[in-house]
Amino acid sequence: MTYSANTKRYLNLNYRRCGNSGLLLPPITLGLWHHFSGKQKMSDKAKNMLFQAFDRGVTHFDLANNYGPPPGSAEENFGKVLHTDFKKYRDELIISTKAGYHMWDGPYGNWSSKKYLISSLDQSLKRMRLDYVDIFYSHRYDPLTPLEETADALTQIINQGKALYVGISSYSSKQTIKMNKLLKERGIRCLIHQPSYSLINRWIEKDLIKTLKDLKIGCIAFSPLAQGMLTNKYLITIQKKTRISENNELAIKLKKMRTKSYLMKIKGLDKIAKKRGQSLAQMALSWVLRHPSMTSALIGARNVKQLDECLDSQNNLIFTKKELKEIDKYAKEEKINLWANSSKD
Ligand code: NAP
Repeated sequence: MTYSANTKRYLNLNYRRCGNSGLLLPPITLGLWHHFSGKQKMSDKAKNMLFQAFDRGVTHFDLANNYGPPPGSAEENFGKVLHTDFKKYRDELIISTKAGYHMWDGPYGNWSSKKYLISSLDQSLKRMRLDYVDIFYSHRYDPLTPLEETADALTQIINQGKALYVGISSYSSKQTIKMNKLLKERGIRCLIHQPSYSLINRWIEKDLIKTLKDLKIGCIAFSPLAQGMLTNKYLITIQKKTRISENNELAIKLKKMRTKSYLMKIKGLDKIAKKRGQSLAQMALSWVLRHPSMTSALIGARNVKQLDECLDSQNNLIFTKKELKEIDKYAKEEKINLWANSSKD
């Protein structure tokens, strides 16, 4: 049976303005980095997450050329859903994709040259069977490609109508200021920045968040749950069927991050969350969204239960000064920012 969306879907969330643009985004966005891949089609479990998200007012879905495995399969699978169940809702959806990491062999399948960004978006559009995406991102800062060239590519993408808006991801404050200026000179707005940010990865507080506010650029924080490390499933042991328990390179990296100092922090944070009547995951999301200029928290989820728990964070967004002070005792930097290299000046 074809999916039909909940008629009350827009009563649930308070949409936030993206910078000073005309675009409103949901406070929680669902990313398709993990759990939406597969060679043939998306699993029913993954599809149900998309449906549940949309039924609860999540209008924004975030992809990238390389999400898989195999790379590209998340876009391909999402494209199938878009042309069946979501077909009549295209104008109610904000679909984003990106290019910047390795996608194909040879000198033109990585980083941020015009050649790569333009061809990659063409491939993404084909995979999703779309004429345009709503937001296209430069996925990371490329120290060897002149920023002017990347700005030219983003401008061409807008001018050709292949994306409605453009954004950048994991750029430092300085790089952001420069890119914003270059885009402005070309008559284009830098709509949004997508940095990593969480209770134990606070690098954007140094200067980026203020820069974005000053430049009136939106901000969507990715990995606000630190890839699941800000949930209680690693508190006692490493639970099965989790990102850390998988058999891959990322799991090895994450396992090394489960240090004594990390455990001390999440135990403290978990206690505060309980006092607030929230789970640790919910408090982590409410905390990211405490900045009035934060447009959205970009989460991942394994199943509908996790997704629902994350969306329920919206029932408790207010922090007292005392709570924030208490949180600051534990919300200190852990070395978990896998994307830090991109934002080095
Ligand atoms: P995240 O929200 O920090 O982590 C998601 C993981 O947290 C889930 O896969 C699940 O882990 C766990 N989780 C979620 N809700 C939970 C709950 N209620 N209870 C217990 N565990 C829960 O985000 P992420 O997946 O790292 O990234 C989110 C999105 O950000 C991606 O899909 C992608 O769109 C975007 N992203 C962008 C970049 C970039 O460079 N721009 C980089 C990374 C990600 P388990 O799978 O272990 O159950």
